[in-house]
Amino acid sequence: MQHFPIFIALAGRRVVVSGGGDAAIAKLRLLLKTEAHLTVFASDPAAEIAAWAEAGRLRLVRRAMEPGDATCAALFYGADEDEAEDARTAALARADGALVNIVDNLGDSQFITPAIVDRDPVTVAIGTEGAAPVLARAIKADLEARLPQTLGPLARIGKAFRKMAEALPMGRKRRDFWSDYYFDAGPRAYEEGGEDGAERALDTLLDRHLASEARPGHVAFVGSGPGDPELLTLKARNALDTADVVIHDRLVAPEILELARREAILIDAGKEGFGAHTPQGDINDMIVDHVRAGAQVVRLKSGDPTVFGRLDEEIEAVDAHGLSWSVVPGITAASASVAAIGQSLTRRGRNASVRYLTGHDMKGFADHDWATLARPGEVAAIYMGKRAARFIQGRLMMHGAAPATPVTVIANASRADQKIVATTLAQLSTDLSAADLSGPALVLYGLAPRAAAAALPDIQPQQEAL
Ligand code: SAH
Repeated sequence: MQHFPIFIALAGRRVVVSGGGDAAIAKLRLLLKTEAHLTVFASDPAAEIAAWAEAGRLRLVRRAMEPGDATCAALFYGADEDEAEDARTAALARADGALVNIVDNLGDSQFITPAIVDRDPVTVAIGTEGAAPVLARAIKADLEARLPQTLGPLARIGKAFRKMAEALPMGRKRRDFWSDYYFDAGPRAYEEGGEDGAERALDTLLDRHLASEARPGHVAFVGSGPGDPELLTLKARNALDTADVVIHDRLVAPEILELARREAILIDAGKEGFGAHTPQGDINDMIVDHVRAGAQVVRLKSGDPTVFGRLDEEIEAVDAHGLSWSVVPGITAASASVAAIGQSLTRRGRNASVRYLTGHDMKGFADHDWATLARPGEVAAIYMGKRAARFIQGRLMMHGAAPATPVTVIANASRADQKIVATTLAQLSTDLSAADLSGPALVLYGLAPRAAAAALPDIQPQQEAL
């Protein structure tokens, strides 16, 4: 180890930076997070640095450094991005007794600045001694994703509670309490009620741990997105990481189920548009039973749980038993599908609103306001629309929709087996039968893939300027 990692107390101490360009800005962004007194020497500072000076966040001296300028400084950064000038300023700063760093010059630097993951007061510093900056960045990105943003405030609140927590015996009991706070009850309470919420949660949590009560069950209704695991939210990943029980729909991609905690019980609730499935009442009962038994349950639904997901029925069932629940949104199939064809769901001058329709409901093919949809420029994302395609086509044509209206069907959006069928309203059912798509498919009415869109006749704008 050629460099020893330490954290320096900078509150109230001087830090001097020479340079007014990009390198200086990058270092200043980090230094501004501290309580150090910053002085910048730059003959021609970038506007950003001048603005910081104006806001009183640092002192800006508009000239090159001179002997004595780094007196009493704890740290000095040579950031002029000029070898000769950096060597000159570094020599001055060293003579003044400051520890010296020259940007992008490891050999002549006395210290290096690590990559930082900032969840103040929790700070992770990553260094590779200049060997592999790419690696440092990758590790940083990984940690950024893994550590919840709430960690900082939770740690600050937790620190003030350490004395109170001493009411618990040292060792396992106290550790369990803190782990419960940082990774479970704390983040949830903070999200719901901010700092006050987290403080209240600490009190309740302590009472519960003092009484040795088991932690109550909870169900998170989590959106798994359209299938690509990279389209999961960080919250969804964290929920899967800590779940005791995962109850999932059939549409949830296997790669995503892989991400569930190894010990978690996976239950296939087997729900699909058509075909064999578990009755809704049984699913409700299953969720309630597991939560009542104290499990951390993830009810995993494809796409976004609030879109054609029968979420309300499940929430009502959970509520009826006074159990705790939360919702984690996901990327819905419509978003993934327009992304696949390079289009927008809304567009100035074309459509100022978009509809999410279902092709069928509990009673069969679903009826909608076809007359409005038939107007030029309308856009709709039709879920569960594959089988209903002929019905939808008939209704829209009957209400005067142009036969040439573009329609694009996207099957398995975002997955490796994604397929796109670009057609028109007139050709929809013919082309769809010919394509013989398998897997979930979304019908985008009024949209063609971007490349093809240019070749289509102009669509009459619905409104002149939106
Ligand atoms: N809650 C889900 C929708 C559930 S309804 C969401 O927000 O996406 C099921 C329907 O969603 C399917 O019939 C299909 O129309 C659509 N769907 C789900 N995943 C899809 C995918 N990867 N590609 C295309 N359509 C999809």
